[in-house]
Amino acid sequence: MKIANNKVVVMHYAVMDSEETLIDSSYDHQPLTFIQGTGFLIPGLESELVDKAVGDKFIVDVDADNAYGQRHDGFVQTVPKSFFQGIDDLDVGMQLRAQTDEGEQTVIVIGMEDDEITVDGNHPLAGIDLKFDVEILEVRDATEEEIAHGHVHTEGGCGHEH
Ligand SMILES: [Zn+2]
Repeated sequence: MKIANNKVVVMHYAVMDSEETLIDSSYDHQPLTFIQGTGFLIPGLESELVDKAVGDKFIVDVDADNAYGQRHDGFVQTVPKSFFQGIDDLDVGMQLRAQTDEGEQTVIVIGMEDDEITVDGNHPLAGIDLKFDVEILEVRDATEEEIAHGHVHTEGGCGHEH
């Protein structure tokens, strides 16, 4: 069976930057399970899976535009520390949920100075060309219920509130 929209895909992946520095890998833990065509994966990777089958192992290069997009300087903001009241151990590198003009999003603290902190709302992989090492482990038809829910059900069923 080949990968197409509404197939459940189980795959291992390793993701590297263009210099082949490993960023993340599923090979030493749980593989990724998802429904093809739901936008679960970044677009540049999802499109490359079409027509692949169990046992296929391949490399996919995805430029930043088709991965996590380009960095936007406007997503870096300096705000008063009081903006994050109640967080005692604020520190550089910490990820926070913040209310922004674009809605709630994850930001990373990149600077702290007196009463101000600087946060970066860019995705950590924004602006980076990526290389994926993929191995397809399983391909099956998604059930009607899975397609309706937009996610994979395991033995226990849905496991989500609807
Ligand atoms: Zn469900």
